Amino acid sequence: MPELPEVETFRRIMEKRALGRTVRRVLVGDRRILAGVAAVRLSRGLVGKRFSAALRHGKQAFLTVEGGGAVGIHFGMSGLPVILEKGEPEPPHSRVVFRFTDDTALVFRCPRMFGKVRLLQSANRFIEQRGLGPDALAADLRAFRKAMKPRKGAVKGALLNQSVLAGIGNVYADEVLFQTGIAPETPGERLDAEDHRRLHGNLRRIFTTSLRLETDWTAVPKTWLIPNRNRDGSCPRCRNPLRRGTVTGRTTFWCASCQSDRSENLYSGGTSR
Ligand SMILES: [Zn+2]
Repeated sequence: MPELPEVETFRRIMEKRALGRTVRRVLVGDRRILAGVAAVRLSRGLVGKRFSAALRHGKQAFLTVEGGGAVGIHFGMSGLPVILEKGEPEPPHSRVVFRFTDDTALVFRCPRMFGKVRLLQSANRFIEQRGLGPDALAADLRAFRKAMKPRKGAVKGALLNQSVLAGIGNVYADEVLFQTGIAPETPGERLDAEDHRRLHGNLRRIFTTSLRLETDWTAVPKTWLIPNRNRDGSCPRCRNPLRRGTVTGRTTFWCASCQSDRSENLYSGGTSR
């Protein structure tokens, strides 16, 4: 499923190839991909206009429309943008095709149909209405601490909660907890300032590395959890078998030796037992 680095990669593709061209036609291959807008209205709102910016917040991408409004794209499980050169045929599962006057096109391909395309008044208004937290890549340490601080439940649940921080999904939540040495079920209230500093730093490093590799999971360092997260996977640090279980409803991989639940932090502040 596309997470923040994947969606950022998609945003960059759209920024490079879909801006400044005039929309000639909008073809909707499957109406079920549209949310809150009919195909006719989407077309009317875009034909003759140009996309002026490609934005992202968490896992949501937006193409702002000159003169006002924006197209919101959620990529779901398997969605991706495809650029068609002049004369190139549409690939299978083309759900929405934005055909430009120069005969190139931006295609929203979505084989499994979990994605959504919307016509919005503005990106910011949508982010507000959805109650999305700060973008997980853009958040500085202060914003990160503020978002993570009041959380009592499992730290993994907080990382996945899009109203806490927007953009972290299951795979990167496991990765940052592994690299920071924190067990996924650790209650958020047990984390101290140093844990937050390291989580924030590691998250940024993981995202920027992933972006540099154009989110090719086969190219990530072997010391990461990602290449080892399978049934027979072992910890790249200590070689013990990885644990696999369900945490906050999601399949989770972690190393019981290298990741602690910070119960030692409970004894800080002068109390002991
Ligand atoms: Zn280990």
